[in-house]
Amino acid sequence: MTIPSENQNNEDYLVQVTNLKKWFPVQTSFIDQLFAEEREFVRAVDGVTFNIKRGEVLGLAGESGSGKTTIGRVTIGLDEKTDGEVIFDGINLSTLSQEQLRKMRRRMQVIFQDPLASLNPRMSLGDAIKQGLEIHYPETKDQHRDIVLEMMEEVGLSPAKFFYNKFPHQISGGQRQRVVIARALVTKPDLVLADEPIAMADVSVRALLLDLMVKLKNDYNLTYLFITHDLATAKYICDRIAILYLGKIVEISDLREVYAHPLHPYTIALLAAVPVPNPHERREEPMPKGEIPNPIHPPSGCRFHPRCPYAQAVCSEKEPELRELRPDHLVACHFAEQFLDS
Ligand code: SF4
Repeated sequence: MTIPSENQNNEDYLVQVTNLKKWFPVQTSFIDQLFAEEREFVRAVDGVTFNIKRGEVLGLAGESGSGKTTIGRVTIGLDEKTDGEVIFDGINLSTLSQEQLRKMRRRMQVIFQDPLASLNPRMSLGDAIKQGLEIHYPETKDQHRDIVLEMMEEVGLSPAKFFYNKFPHQISGGQRQRVVIARALVTKPDLVLADEPIAMADVSVRALLLDLMVKLKNDYNLTYLFITHDLATAKYICDRIAILYLGKIVEISDLREVYAHPLHPYTIALLAAVPVPNPHERREEPMPKGEIPNPIHPPSGCRFHPRCPYAQAVCSEKEPELRELRPDHLVACHFAEQFLDS
């Protein structure tokens, strides 16, 4: 499937993802497998297509269980895909050998959500940041310490020599997230998967970390795939946004366009739930009732229909396709036209 609005030259894109699927087999006992009619799968990602332009920040947003983290991990090759295609800088990642993929990883780095879990408690901060250099640039071993010190200053761990020999438990949560950012950027990647990068940070330092990520993106000419459950955070940093529901993209466009003209009932509900800094302003629309359904047996037709206040009979029978209803603005809803003028 091609995204009809994104008809630019392929060279404009750093990442092109087509019909990506990631299904996890459901673990059952041997006896259950013998009597099961067919193997069951968790359809975490079930056919998503998107592109990321060079230098762009594409947000993936949705509730927990929407598949956003899985999409990110499969896109950069941390997990194997079940089906579909990922093209990175013109190269189909499926055609690479393990060794070629390992080398390619220098260009695709990750900022994980939980810095404490992603840092080795017995490794100094300097050594943790240096690891990527040792793997990808062994020939410049003599310069690694200076490169790390420079990177630490860049992310605000200053004076760097003071932090270099410290351990993760000796610094604050915000500083640990700066270490994780430094570790991701020290190999000079092109694409950074930022997986809820400020979710574990103290509220008081979140804006500072986002400012840092924006500055580093500009300084290092980075492209971000930014995963978040929080549309307020997405508004701060993303250029475009894809709204995910149960393993599918339901809406994708420029971020300002989606905020000004949301066309999918799920996006409308998510935006209505974003807190506003005004105690006198009341929210009219609550989040849709109920939980996100079981991805092993997703609802028929439109997956959002059990929770959608606008659902009609056809919604449970026919799956809506992503359609371009405004320029570069795609939505998967049979009745999205009703929101065009609202
Ligand atoms: Fe709601 Fe139907 Fe649109 Fe799905 S297709 S979002 S159920 S109106």
